[in-house]
This record gives sequence, structure tokens and C-alpha cells, in this order.
Amino acid sequence: MSNKVRVRFAPSPTGPLHIGGVRTALYNYLFAKKHGGDFILRIEDTDSQRFVPGAEEYIVEALEWLGLQFDEGVHIGGNYGPYRQSDRKEIYKKYVDILLNKEKAYIAFDTPQELEEKRNQTANFQYDASTRMQMRNSLTLPQAEVDELIANGEKYVVRFKIEPNEDVVVDDVIRGEVTINSSVLDDKVLYKSADNLPTYHLANIVDDHLMEVTHVIRGEEWLPSAPLHVLLYRAFGWEETMPRFAHLPLLLKPEGNGKLSKRDGDRLGFPVFPLEWKDPKTGDISSGYRESGYLPEAVVNFLALLGWNPGNDQEIMQMEDLVALFSLEKCSKSGAKFDYEKGKWFNHQYVQLKPNNDIAAMFMPYLEAKGLHPTTEYVENVVSLVKERVSFVKELWDQSFFFFQAPATYDEKTAKKRWKEDSPAQLTELIDVLTAIDDFSAPNQEQIVKAWIEDKGYHLGNIMNAFRLAVVGESKGPHMFDITATIGREETISRLGKAIKEIK
Ligand code: GLU
Repeated sequence: MSNKVRVRFAPSPTGPLHIGGVRTALYNYLFAKKHGGDFILRIEDTDSQRFVPGAEEYIVEALEWLGLQFDEGVHIGGNYGPYRQSDRKEIYKKYVDILLNKEKAYIAFDTPQELEEKRNQTANFQYDASTRMQMRNSLTLPQAEVDELIANGEKYVVRFKIEPNEDVVVDDVIRGEVTINSSVLDDKVLYKSADNLPTYHLANIVDDHLMEVTHVIRGEEWLPSAPLHVLLYRAFGWEETMPRFAHLPLLLKPEGNGKLSKRDGDRLGFPVFPLEWKDPKTGDISSGYRESGYLPEAVVNFLALLGWNPGNDQEIMQMEDLVALFSLEKCSKSGAKFDYEKGKWFNHQYVQLKPNNDIAAMFMPYLEAKGLHPTTEYVENVVSLVKERVSFVKELWDQSFFFFQAPATYDEKTAKKRWKEDSPAQLTELIDVLTAIDDFSAPNQEQIVKAWIEDKGYHLGNIMNAFRLAVVGESKGPHMFDITATIGREETISRLGKAIKEIK
């Protein structure tokens, strides 16, 4: 085995990838890239009961959207394939036999009813060293009977034979040494004859070994499985090449109490999935970050800081910065509150950082949907004037509609407050002033209009408020003369004329 860092993201295709899973993928990616290593996508689909069609494609699409590129995986192949566990059945069978031959595992025939009975008889029943000799398995039955049962097609499972009373140490990069006593573990099922498939535990360990995985970076919910995994490595005699573990902190509810769930997203109105997901059974739609208008760079930056920080208070970090700064040692042990308002803040920052032409291109479809076909240059200019006011591209329309169309109505409250008795007369004069301006640029207009106001002794605020109401239809928008310079003299004058006629 070489020294090259190799990490895997190993989701089970049981539904859309949760945002916590996305963070796990991201940390694996950052760690791999930081160390010049390989990032592998392995699909763990040995639980056929929980398989959901479309989930694998969803995972690939989501991680591609975020810019997490794999070096090997189910969708691109590689030298260690196949990368989908259901395509590796033969491999697992071989390793189950190795454990059976080494007497590290045994065959058990107990039916679900028998197990249920046992559980009813014995409080806290656990299938382990203290009980296994009372059960129907290859340790208690004569070999001939075992062979016959198998030959007759009797369903069986293979269980891991865990030796009691041994301290098992999991050496975790983030949590340090976590020690548990093997007696608390049960003889986990590693394989089921019914579907000819291994369980998660066996497949996971065999694959990490065969794929030469060096670091297992995954969610905290897998920490309880880690001692079992350590024992499995030992049983196979693979201690030397056992990967290092790093169990990431939980993502917590925004309030900080308990694990973040889909319900929190529904309750507080934010997505917990990277992409929109339509449940193939119920048809229910769950919102996604992409469809909600988040930029992938913002999502990456936001997630990177949920459980890790660079050791100072730097917040804006693009992918290459994150790769350079990332380290597992700086990941926190304690859960990270899912502060979705911070997610919006990141999106705001990234909208500001993105070049105006990119934002304009993203805004264009919204305009076209309204039947508007402005030039790219025009839209870019508008974007430059209003982008600081938005966190999402979809909010641009609300901040800029008046660049594309004259107000159809005038906000009543604003009109009441800002349309004075002499507004019609003053704006009529303003039309003449604007008509006479040769250079209609914003600074020149401003200078001339202000000189006129001063000259006449008019009230600057009153004129500008009425002017804005006429051009915009309400009291919002960027600098007034930036608006008029953009929409042009003819349009400005026409809007003034219309307002003078229509506002009472
Ligand atoms: N298949 C497991 C999951 O869905 C992988 C856990 C691990 O990374 O070992 O999260």
C-alpha cells in the first residue's frame, strides 16, 4: 500500500442526500485535495429494503453542482471498482468465508420468531458471548446438521463472534481515543443468505480495505459502529492498514437542541437538501439549495464552517482557500448549530463577488419570462446598480423592475406623503430642465437639476421624492440619477408626464 491519502464518500442511496451528508463529502474532498490524495464515491446499497430509485443519480448531480470532483467512483470508474456494493456480492462472499474459516464468525439459523421469543423471555437480550450458546447456530449444532440445513435452503445469517471483555480503542483524529468494552457489543450480523448480501458493517470494512482507504471521515452517528469496525479489521488481520477515523460533529437545529432534521427546514423555511427532490413514492417535493437560488460557492463556504474553522475568524473562503487551510485537527467535537441566516449571508457575499456579467446572465431568464428582452449590456448595468441590495438573483427583479418598465400604479402611501400640491407644477418645470440637458450622464444631470432647484429656492427633498415616485412608482431604488441615466431621457420624461396626469 502506498502512502497516498485515499478517502471515500460512501452514501447509502436511501433518499436525497441530506445537507449533513454534503458536509461529510466536502470535508473528505478538502482533506483529499489538501494532501494530493484521491476522493472516491462508493455507493453502499446493500440494504435492498431501503433502496430508493434516483437517489444515486441525485447524489452524483448534487456533488457535481457543488464542484466536488471525484477521482474514482460509481459514475466514472477507476482501478478499484466496482464502486457500487450491489455489484460486489462475490467479493463479500469470499471475505465472509475467510472469517468463518478463521472461526471469527459463525452461522446462525434462529428465525425472527425465535429471536422475538428470546427477547420476550430475557430482559435486554443481546446475541453475544453470554447467550450465543443457547441459540441455534453452528457453535451449538453438529456440523452435519448445519450442512443439512444449508443444503435444504434454510435461511441463515453469519454473525461476528465478538470476544467478551476486551477493551477496544478507536483512535479518532477529532475525538482522540475512544475506548469501549467489547462486552457491550452484540454479535453483529455480517451476512444474510436470504438476499445473498453482506450487511453495511462487513461491506464497509472489506471495501475500505480493498480500496486502500487511509482515512474514514464520516458523521458522528457512525462513531458507535467504529469499535466493531476495529474488531473486524483485527479479525481479518488488517490492523496494519486500518484507516484513521475522524467522526465529524453533528449538525444541530438552529436553536442548538438536537439533530437538524428535514422538519426543521419545513418549520423554519430553509432547504436541508442540496437539490430539489421529488419523492418517487409520494410525489412530495422537498426544496433544494440550488433551486432556492443559492450559489454553489456560497453553500460550500457555509458548510465548510459548520464544524471546522481555519483557526482565525476568516469567513470568506473559496474552494482553493479551503483546500489550503483545511485540517481534521481543527474540526470541532461539539455539534455545529445550523445557522441558515448565515447561509443567506454567505450567498449575499458571493453574489457581490461574482462578476456582473455572470449575475446578469443568471437574471436574464427571469426577464425573459416576463416578456422582456433587454440587451446584456443594459442588464449588466442594472445589476451593477442594485446587486448590493440582494442576497439572491431572484430578488433582483423586485429591486430593479423600474429599469425595465414604467410604473403601472403609484404606491398610495408614498403618494400621500410625497406628492405635494406643487409637485405637478415643479415636475413640469423639471421636464423642461431635463429636455435642455445635453449630456444625460448621472453626474451632469445631478449637477444641473440641483442648480435649478437651488436657483428656484425649491425644497430638494420634496422634488426628489416626487421625482422618484414618478419614475419608480414607490420610494425605493438606487441613486435617482443613476436610474434616469440608465432608462434615458425620453423614458424619464414620459414617466414624469404620466405621473403628472395620473397622481392625484
Ligand atoms: N453508508 C454509510 C452512510 O450512509 C457510510 C458510513 C461510512 O462512511 O462508513 O452514511
